[in-house]
Amino acid sequence: MKKEDCIFCKIANGEIPSSTIYEDEDFRVILDLNPASKGHALILPKEHLKDVCELNADIAAKILPLAAKIGTAMKKALGCAGFNLVQNNGEAAGQTVFHFHLHIIPRYEGGPSIVSWTPGSESPGKLETTAAGIRAAL
Ligand code: AMP
Ligand code: ZN
Repeated sequence: MKKEDCIFCKIANGEIPSSTIYEDEDFRVILDLNPASKGHALILPKEHLKDVCELNADIAAKILPLAAKIGTAMKKALGCAGFNLVQNNGEAAGQTVFHFHLHIIPRYEGGPSIVSWTPGSESPGKLETTAAGIRAAL
């Protein structure tokens, strides 16, 4: 997709209004239009980067401290007990907007599970084969 057609480029750069909770020269942090819980936010880099594989080191290094700052503010302002950081890469992983974004999802005591999977089981031999395959690709 061309960045001229990217909704998150337009939001991040202020061409389309959003519920902004933070902005600096690199990022805009907005509330998700369809929140998984009250306060669900998205960190958007202003630069059009498709997914985590396109992040440069400078932007990447700034994202987690920013997520921690926003999460800390959520605890104070909203009374959430914790928060999940979720970041989808590729359609198969659930990415629907192909401009990198990091979800910050507040979690409230007694609230529903938001990020979960069914733990599988694997033999040490199969784990090692999988690990070797990934190591070889690094
Ligand atoms: P993902 O599935 O990780 O690509 O997440 C995309 C997220 O963007 C979803 O949670 C949507 O609800 C959210 N979203 C899509 N369009 C907008 C918008 N215009 N403003 C705010 N959030 C949006
Ligand atoms: Zn974009």
